[in-house]
Amino acid sequence: MKRTKIVCTIGPASEKPATLEKMISAGMNVARLNMSHGDYNWNSRVISNLRAIEKKTGKPIAIIVDLQGSKARIGELGVRSYELRVGQKIIFTTGNSILITHNSITHNFKIPIAVPNFHKYVKKGAHLLIADGTIECVVERVTGKDIHARVILGGELKSHKGIAIAGGSLPLPSITSKDRKDIAWSKTQDIDFVALSFVKKAEDVLALRKLMLRKLSFRTEAELPGIKIIVKIETREAVHNFEEILRVCDGVMIARGDLALATSPEEVPLIQKELIEKCRRRAVPVIVATEMLASMERAPRPTRAEASDVANAVIDHTDAVMLSGESATGAYPIETVRIMSAIIQKTEKSRFDDLSIGGEIHHGNPEEETALLAAMQARTEEAKAIVAGTVTGHTARLLSRYRSEVELIIGTPFTRVLRQINLSWGVRPFLLPEVATRKELEEKLIAQAHASGFKKGSKIVIVSSDHPAPHAQSFAVVKTL
Ligand code: PEP
Repeated sequence: MKRTKIVCTIGPASEKPATLEKMISAGMNVARLNMSHGDYNWNSRVISNLRAIEKKTGKPIAIIVDLQGSKARIGELGVRSYELRVGQKIIFTTGNSILITHNSITHNFKIPIAVPNFHKYVKKGAHLLIADGTIECVVERVTGKDIHARVILGGELKSHKGIAIAGGSLPLPSITSKDRKDIAWSKTQDIDFVALSFVKKAEDVLALRKLMLRKLSFRTEAELPGIKIIVKIETREAVHNFEEILRVCDGVMIARGDLALATSPEEVPLIQKELIEKCRRRAVPVIVATEMLASMERAPRPTRAEASDVANAVIDHTDAVMLSGESATGAYPIETVRIMSAIIQKTEKSRFDDLSIGGEIHHGNPEEETALLAAMQARTEEAKAIVAGTVTGHTARLLSRYRSEVELIIGTPFTRVLRQINLSWGVRPFLLPEVATRKELEEKLIAQAHASGFKKGSKIVIVSSDHPAPHAQSFAVVKTL
């Protein structure tokens, strides 16, 4: 059984219930809906299909609604595409775009940029990266609203493709009007996480949290299970402000696509390692995203470098790895999940992803100390599993961060928490009926250990608390089944 979780972006290639079901049995744990694509009807249909499959298979699936955020984009071109050739001089504009077509040849073309003040943030010599950097232009001069540039990496330009200033940033709002509409819609849906794009600072997350809590039926955060917030780290500011962002978010996605444009490709591997380590220390689940098995959008086999990328993310101790185009629009969505699972399992069987327990993690409160004790007991007693109950999911995340070799079987009375902890490394969640006493909780946890197939005589570590509520006194005890 693999421990590292798989997040799949759902799109036309994977929307059919039969495909989704096969992807789940191949190892998908979390579905991502990208709000840059698909209308509300389409997204709602995918959500209800996923919930129906979840019911049928008994496998929990967390759903992430990924907000589009304020990505700078090319405007409407008015033509299907426009071929940009190396050396060609072109003009981008935030004013009126001009297109003259004569004898099927397009002349005097000004390419619209759909951000009113974009021209103010570029200077001579700046590099503009379009469509994830597949097209690149260098700025020669800026006159009024026009940006005169030369193409240095050609390609087929299409409407609405992303445009970024290499290594730069734009002072765009963290939550757009489209995001606000999508947030309001999200709250009507049976989803588990919202992902915030282009986060720069902790206040961006707090602003989203305010919007999420408003109109929700829960009165306080402690009464969650509310929808949790994942931050997408894809700006230089977010990397710089990561510690403060980490304190206020519930999960992290290392969005390597845009991150590589805002920083540089050579910085991304080290940022990935740094962020994963910080997340694990604070018990915040982290997802490594983008281009993990990109060639599988068109081919049934990954490249050697892609297989290594997935394996190395596991060795970095990420909670989850993500598929984007591979599962949303690729030709082999099921096969891609299968291969990703196989790479994960092979890597997890090796010694290279092993961790020593506890060392660098600060254990500041009794809950953290109990989780550490459980992980240590499981190792020294050679237990088969740690079996625990959680109300908010916090205990599950505290246990997960040790990346213990033993099974982590974690029960919760809330369906949404059940799905949310399914993003965390190694957690096998189950629905646990509410209990009144610690004794009753331990009986239920032992029953679950039996139901999970552990034989009589096996040792397990039971993590329980006096009252099933946050901050209650907690215990870790070894039991023999
Ligand atoms: C990314 O940029 O890597 C990413 C995951 O974001 P999106 O797919 O929303 O552009």
